[in-house]
This record gives sequence, C-alpha cells and structure tokens, in this order.
Amino acid sequence: MPKILVIGAISEGNLTGTSLEAVTATLELAEAMGAEVFGGLIGDECARAAARFAAAGLSEVFVADHARHAPYVAEFHVAAAQAIVRRCQPDVILAPSTSETSEWMPILSGRLDAAMASACTRVGFEGDHLLATRPVCGGAVQGEYVLKGGLRIVTLAPAAYEAATLSEPCPISLVELPDVQARVTVVEQLNDQVGSGPPLRTARTVVSGGLGIGNRENWSLIEDAAAALGAAVGATRAVVELGWVPHAQQVGFSGQKISPELYLAVGISGAVHHMAGLAGAKTIVAINKDPEASIFRTAHFGVVGDAKEVVPAFIARVKELRAQQA
Ligand SMILES: Cc1cc2nc3c(=O)[nH]c(=O)nc-3n(C[C@H](O)[C@H](O)[C@H](O)COP(=O)(O)OP(=O)(O)OC[C@H]3O[C@@H](n4cnc5c(N)ncnc54)[C@H](O)[C@@H]3O)c2cc1C
Repeated sequence: MPKILVIGAISEGNLTGTSLEAVTATLELAEAMGAEVFGGLIGDECARAAARFAAAGLSEVFVADHARHAPYVAEFHVAAAQAIVRRCQPDVILAPSTSETSEWMPILSGRLDAAMASACTRVGFEGDHLLATRPVCGGAVQGEYVLKGGLRIVTLAPAAYEAATLSEPCPISLVELPDVQARVTVVEQLNDQVGSGPPLRTARTVVSGGLGIGNRENWSLIEDAAAALGAAVGATRAVVELGWVPHAQQVGFSGQKISPELYLAVGISGAVHHMAGLAGAKTIVAINKDPEASIFRTAHFGVVGDAKEVVPAFIARVKELRAQQA
C-alpha cells in the first residue's frame, strides 16, 4: 500500500492552521491513491502540537522533538526529516509552504532524489502520476506539473484547502535526531513584522498599501485599517524601497506569496510583479484614484477615489459596525 507523509509546521509551540490544511490535501490524495497516511513533526517542545496533529485523521505521527530545532536551522530539519522518512518510507511527502519549508524541503528533495513542486494550490493523482497545480506568470496561468515515479514532494500554498477537523488521536512515536554537525549557528533573531496583527503569510485578511498613500506619515492609514479589520499589513516593493516598512511586509514576485480571503489594496497600481504574490487571494478590493489603474482589471471590487478620504471613512464604518455587533 502506498504511503503519504504530511510534515506539519509549528509556530510558538502550536500546530499551524496550514498544517491542518495540508492534512486535508493528504487525506484527499490518500483516497485517490488508496494510501496510508502518516504525520511528521519537527520542533522543540512539540508535545502540544503533536497531540493536535495526532487527532487530525492520520494513522501515526512521528515526532522529532529536540532542543536543537530552536532556533530553526535548515540542516537539523533536513536530518530530522530524513530520520522520519526512514521510519515510514513514504511515496509522497506533503507539507505547508512556509519560509522554512521553502529552504529545507528542496535540500531534502535533493538528498532523497525526489521530484518536487512548491507552493501548490492542488494536488491529485492520475494513473501512476502525481499532479500538482501552481500559479505561474503572476497567477495569469495555472501550471500543471506531473511528478513521475519514486519519492515525490509537494508543498501547499496557505488557504488552498480547508483545515482538517479533529477526532480520535492516533499513536505518536518519537524519532531520534541523528548526530549532525550544522555549519550554521544562529547568533540573533530579528523580528521585522509590522504591527500586532496576524503574520502576513497566513493572514485571512490583508490590508496593503502602495505609493498612492503619498508619504510615510500617511502610512498610519494602512495600519489603522488593518487594526480595524484584525488584518496583517502588506506593502508594494516601491514602499519597501522607500523604507516605510521592512521587506518582510512586501507582497509580490520578490516578496511574500499570500492567499488571504480578503486583500484590500490601497494606492497600488497592480503591477504584474505585485500581483504575482496574490494568485491565491480569494477577494481583492482596490482603492485607487485612477479609474484606469491596472489593479481594477483583477480586483473583484473597486473604489475610485483618494485613499486619504476613502480609508478614514472606511475605518469609521468598520468601527461603527463592530460597535453594533458588540
Ligand atoms: C524583478 C522585479 C521584481 C519586483 N518585485 C515586486 C514585488 O515583489 N512586489 C511589488 O509590489 N513590486 C515588485 N516590483 C515592482 C513593481 O513592478 C512595481 O514597480 C511596484 O509594485 C509599484 O508599486 P506601487 O503600486 O506602490 O506604485 P505605483 O506603480 O507608482 O502606483 C501607485 C498607485 O497609486 C495610485 N494613487 C496615487 N495617489 C493616490 C491617492 N491619493 N489615492 C488612491 N490612489 C492613489 C496611482 O493611481 C497608482 O495606481 C518588482 C519589479 C521588478 C523589476
């Protein structure tokens, strides 16, 4: 019987929502392949996350729980993943696409001589082949990839699948971390996340600003709108280059690829390099004073107007509605 291993991700000791989304993809694929499903977790103090993962509909969860996984170093993750792979011998590995899996999964794929597709929005099975779909050319085209034979690895874009529901837990087995000498030592970790909202990469709602905001002082409009909606703050590269926000907040081809339910784009022209980060966004709302701005070609809803007038009115209305609900 074929085997699928889904490797979850942990944030501050908790299993991420995108891990449960990857489980749904795993269970659907397992149905198509007639496969058995296993979980893998790599981290430091992952008991809480492991208990949740074990209740997500898997047969067994393998956990590499070791202090060496904090802070994150790719070499330890690859070594731990190899140890988990040796235990369950999967035909397919799935995992959420994160900044960390974007680094260590390709290394694992190289070591295991596996075919790999990253940040996919769908994974399926046909004949003997694994099919993976991912947006290319800034989301203008959906690329279909055929991963043939041997071990195959697919990472999944956030919000591509619904999160799996939890039920009865399966057994959890500990996996020893092999003796690895990492060539990298983390000296200091800098957090350049803006605001107190959710992380940009996995946020359900994102408010993003572009040069149309006018100047750095006006940037508080974006932060206030994000705070009112409980959203993450995003930005265009033009804004990042001006130093209004750190690069971690950049959305686009050379920034973060995100899949929010709602993306509010304020004063953003909609350049192809920016839209490349938005292929997975469900609903895009644009505020731009130029009715010919190219973002209106992609946006589902648009407001033609000056951001300095529209955004304060929008924030006031959101607060009013929230107060009515309270
Ligand atoms: C290799 C490469 C990679 C790149 N990667 C990225 C990337 O990852 N992310 C990214 O964002 N860009 C990226 N870029 C840059 C990208 O091509 C655009 O230059 C950039 O996205 C434009 O940013 P903007 O929309 O803020 O500015 P502009 O294009 O200048 O647009 C500003 C918009 O604001 C509107 N506006 C002006 N005043 C107001 C107002 N008062 N109220 C409302 N609207 C107003 C204007 O009508 C205009 O549409 C990349 C470029 C290259 C070459």
